[in-house]
Amino acid sequence: MCGIVGYIGNKQAYPILIKGLHRLEYRGYDSAGIALLDDDTNLHVYKTQGKVANLEAFCKDKNISGTIGIAHTRWATHGEPNDVNAHPHYSQSENLALIHNGIIENYITLKQMLIDKGYTFVSQTDTEVLVQFVEYVKNENNLSLYEAVHQALTQVVGAYAIAVIEKGNPNVLIAARKGSPLIIGIGEDDFFLGSDASPIVEYTKDVIYLEEESIVQITRGQKDIVIKNLDNVDLKQNIQKIQIDLSEIEKGGFPHFMLKEIFEQPKSLLMCMNGRVERQNVVLSGIRENIEKFRNTNRIIITACGTSWHAGIIGKYLFESFCKIPVQIEVASEFRYRHPVVRKSDILIAISQSGETADTIAAMELAKKQGTFIYGICNVVGSSVARLTDSGTYTHAGPEIGVASTKAFTTQVAVLTMMALTIGKELGTIDDATYHRISKELSQIPQKIESILSHAERIEKVSKVFTYARNFMYLGRGYNYAVALEGALKLKEISYIHAEGYPAAEMKHGPIALVDEDMPIVVIAPKFGIYDKIVSNVQELKARNGRIIAIVSEGDDRIAKIADYSIEIPDVEECLTPLLTVIPLQLLSYYIATAKGRDVDQPRNLAKSVTVE
Ligand code: GLU
Repeated sequence: MCGIVGYIGNKQAYPILIKGLHRLEYRGYDSAGIALLDDDTNLHVYKTQGKVANLEAFCKDKNISGTIGIAHTRWATHGEPNDVNAHPHYSQSENLALIHNGIIENYITLKQMLIDKGYTFVSQTDTEVLVQFVEYVKNENNLSLYEAVHQALTQVVGAYAIAVIEKGNPNVLIAARKGSPLIIGIGEDDFFLGSDASPIVEYTKDVIYLEEESIVQITRGQKDIVIKNLDNVDLKQNIQKIQIDLSEIEKGGFPHFMLKEIFEQPKSLLMCMNGRVERQNVVLSGIRENIEKFRNTNRIIITACGTSWHAGIIGKYLFESFCKIPVQIEVASEFRYRHPVVRKSDILIAISQSGETADTIAAMELAKKQGTFIYGICNVVGSSVARLTDSGTYTHAGPEIGVASTKAFTTQVAVLTMMALTIGKELGTIDDATYHRISKELSQIPQKIESILSHAERIEKVSKVFTYARNFMYLGRGYNYAVALEGALKLKEISYIHAEGYPAAEMKHGPIALVDEDMPIVVIAPKFGIYDKIVSNVQELKARNGRIIAIVSEGDDRIAKIADYSIEIPDVEECLTPLLTVIPLQLLSYYIATAKGRDVDQPRNLAKSVTVE
């Protein structure tokens, strides 16, 4: 949440910062702002409510010169999204400007202390307290900016990625992180800061992923960056290569990132399975190397949030079917606070697209304290999840920019499937024929998704019928119960239509009371084991005049005859159906949302990568 970008070097900072903000806008779009030091080293802050485009319009007639600057796109936590609460925030003297991603939890105590000392505040944010506090510490102790930031942060409770610049000090950019991501890009004669690699990638591929609790001083003209931790110990500068290309973070002719990412899924899955699924076999080194842990454990705990949690539910079904290991699936925000029993002999699997989800990271830290083996599934290389785990698998989906996750989900499910197959094979809990058959079918999933995508127009037509709806119900059973949850979440996120996902048989325990002739009900009903029961469920709904959109197996006319609309998916093994059934649901929500004129890439109140609790 919230995007941070910074620049210091020999180029004009403004165009680089604005472009960077556009790239980071998916992380928050309540307001945007920029701080620059001009050639006379005066400090200018420009900020406005709303999107980056508003900021650009606002800056048209302003002094935007300068070769050092910081910029921010906000997802508000403290204080409404207005001009005053937008970042950067000035200190009392207006000598410092600071941007922040995260939450300063003890800001009320610090604020009261500063008010008692005569400081005044203009915003409701926790961030303004931080910049005032840095200035207070600096002046009280006569410190350099770096020392002041360091000392102030030792007294701060909470999560932050920050960047600070100072009037009259055009050669120094200070940054720090704890709990929120921050990356430094190293150019020829200049440096870049970013919440992720997207604002940096077109200038340089050399980056440092800052470690937790790092404080950094970048000095113009000096190759060496000072990076220390809160205990003032030097941290090593591990320069890595960014693994993404510019084309991956652009829309490539699609009207929205979400649609591009839905259509990218065949490719993302190929990347995800590349070198891992071959000739009816699955090779996952992270699992093979740690197979004894899986052999000896009595329980796997899967923890995640949102869409990743839905993927985790499918993981539970897969692991219990093929590995015969009991699995508990936990929403990370609940797990971390409910005093769970976690044992050293357990295995914790954490799933997060960004690898920066605050609650998932906290759940991992909780388990780590018990000595539990932690396996991570994430997309962003070098992210906090990747660094905190004992082992793991990257999804390699490529950057996901649409706020509503699509390719992250399918690649996470593919990784969980590969894990279950590998563990099952190694432990002997899956028979050879089943293992090879599913491995082979898994490798064919990208083509099958292509075939569903080739019918996007029909799904678009169906979606037009349902733009009137104020409520939707999604029903599924078995592996597709989680897909029902995911379908409902997609619709809520981007169309603002209320939707509920339910296990189909549970509907009689309550939700069926909602069914009338206005209620669209999406039934995910591929032809498997309990298919007959689903047919009965659909009959029950139809008897109450519900409007049924059924996702069915190719050639299935039993449900198709009862349903108002049916959308077919190619034949596939039951455990792989979620990888196909979710595709029409993603498209359905996309087309309904666009028909209603919603901003699908930047839906209200949401932001990508939930780095605050
Ligand atoms: N807590 C800060 C605010 O509300 C920063 C939020 C963010 O990460 O965007 O302004």
